[in-house]
Amino acid sequence: MKKGKKLYEGKAKIIYATSDKNLVIQYFKDDATAFNNQKKSTIEGKGVLNNRISEHILSNLSQIGIKNHLVKRLNMREQVIKLVEIIPIEFIVRNVASGSITKRLGIEDGTVLKEPLVEYCFKNDELGDPLVAEEHIYTFDWASKKELEKIKKMILRINDFMIGMFRGIGIKLIDFKLEFGRIKINGKNEIILADEISPDTCRLWDSITDKKLDKDRFRKDLGDLIPAYTEVAKRLGILHEQSNISAVNVTKLSSIKRKRK
Ligand code: UDP
Repeated sequence: MKKGKKLYEGKAKIIYATSDKNLVIQYFKDDATAFNNQKKSTIEGKGVLNNRISEHILSNLSQIGIKNHLVKRLNMREQVIKLVEIIPIEFIVRNVASGSITKRLGIEDGTVLKEPLVEYCFKNDELGDPLVAEEHIYTFDWASKKELEKIKKMILRINDFMIGMFRGIGIKLIDFKLEFGRIKINGKNEIILADEISPDTCRLWDSITDKKLDKDRFRKDLGDLIPAYTEVAKRLGILHEQSNISAVNVTKLSSIKRKRK
């Protein structure tokens, strides 16, 4: 597949055209931004980890029937994705209160919510992605009622799946952000999951220690962002080097056991 011209550059990713008009290449940069672009930095290797982690989560979601834009990962930093018309809403899903909601509503950080809370933010950097109500979405035709109903159902399934997936590797899924896009499949309009799901777009806390394994390490100047993202990738079992090492260890262990017998 031939990489064409740059179509769009965002804060953490670049989109390139391809020879197929329905497909684009998504390139993961090392740039990190927070607080509506006021804090900026480059963290070497972040894009590589996000590319792998997002590929893993989106392909798992696809296996449980959540249609999404991922076609395939190309290399360390790039993946081929379906070109969609992005719905201009950031869907924030919260299981535990942290980040902006704690400040906005005076809720204590770490408060477990009695059920998942979905918030809508209008995607507009100049306005600082303001929180909006469902009614705003209909009034300004950002999405139809039918589309939003479909998205809400998808969100709850995605949340259930991701809570379980992370729980299995000793991580609490505190909150995350999703984006959806419109696409024509066999002449039919569909809504599919788009963008990325990674420690840049989720809050992930270690189940036992509550250690932050996500972009809060950058937002709060906690340091060691790469080791934290690597830890997430390692626990998800997607780092070849690590799985090879554990495979060697397992072999060694079993030979030791055999000798003991
Ligand atoms: N989030 C994101 N992109 C955004 C805003 C939020 O990926 O533009 C994610 C963020 O990483 C967190 C969740 O959505 O996992 C909730 O973010 P919050 O509203 O608390 O905002 P923040 O703390 O980033 O200001």
